[in-house]
Amino acid sequence: MEYRKLGKSNIEVSRLCFGSLTMTKSQKNLSKEESGKLLDFAFENGINFIDTADLYDNYHQIREVFNYQKREDLIITSKTYAYTKEGAREALNRYLKELKTDYADIFLLHEQESEMTLKGHYEALEELWKLKEKGYIRSVGISTHKIAAVRAARAFKEIEIVHPMVNVKGLGILDGTLNEMLKEISLARKKGIGIYAMKVLGGGHLISQSEEAIKWAVDNDLFDSIALGMQSKEEILANISLFENRQINKEVKEKLRQTNRTISVEEYCIGCGRCKDRCQGNAIDIVDGKAVINKNCILCGYCASVCPDFYIKVH
Ligand code: SF4
Ligand code: SF4
Repeated sequence: MEYRKLGKSNIEVSRLCFGSLTMTKSQKNLSKEESGKLLDFAFENGINFIDTADLYDNYHQIREVFNYQKREDLIITSKTYAYTKEGAREALNRYLKELKTDYADIFLLHEQESEMTLKGHYEALEELWKLKEKGYIRSVGISTHKIAAVRAARAFKEIEIVHPMVNVKGLGILDGTLNEMLKEISLARKKGIGIYAMKVLGGGHLISQSEEAIKWAVDNDLFDSIALGMQSKEEILANISLFENRQINKEVKEKLRQTNRTISVEEYCIGCGRCKDRCQGNAIDIVDGKAVINKNCILCGYCASVCPDFYIKVH
């Protein structure tokens, strides 16, 4: 496994980052013991970088890996929607308390959209920066699905890391083209901002073209690391094989076929619309009192986390 520094930070991460939303109750729903063992397996195979978020509510799953590995050997990112300093502090405190650690590696403002949303969240960003200066956080940044937010990030000294949505087909980028996104990522990099990509398989839609999609991402020097959701040992090995060999042998292809993801809404849905409000991609319609997923869906799973009764599942 190749390791790289995230931009100008001194944080060294594996190029393959473990996206942990897949382990949570809205997706595979692994027990904490299963989660710890899976993360340990990933680490033993070279993956030292784990991506989570306050929203995923899975610190208890991630903490289990410390039964096997030393805290300081792992890099764990989290994200918060906070816009006040109190909100930022509360989010950090949850990370510290639930992961039983005294520092966070990386804290991001979650799903930033533009200069305007960054200004709206500036109080929280500034607080995260102050917490960094006090030694509680190693690095600060944003995650985003939007080109405008990658562009705006360059103007904020506090933003050292950007976690953008990007893939070979530009799926899910709603405010412009893939080339425009790559141009902004390149400009951010020139400023020393670390980049770790998300959704390089288009949330599962590019599984049939995984070889091309992963090769494109791994061979692209713009990305220090690439986050992929994983929920089984087979999936970890399949992804490592793609990263290290840039090709998929027959066995790996079959594993990927078996792990091809899909989303479903249970018949008990009451059409409350919470999921529709949560989806940034206009991928949910309420039809005849039920949520219906349309072709815009990129399988990010965020809608599933707001359904009070877990009627949406990303399998
Ligand atoms: S949040 Fe749950 S109950 Fe409400 S519309 Fe969505 S799936 Fe249905
Ligand atoms: S429908 Fe759900 S899984 Fe699909 S893009 Fe919207 S939030 Fe993500």
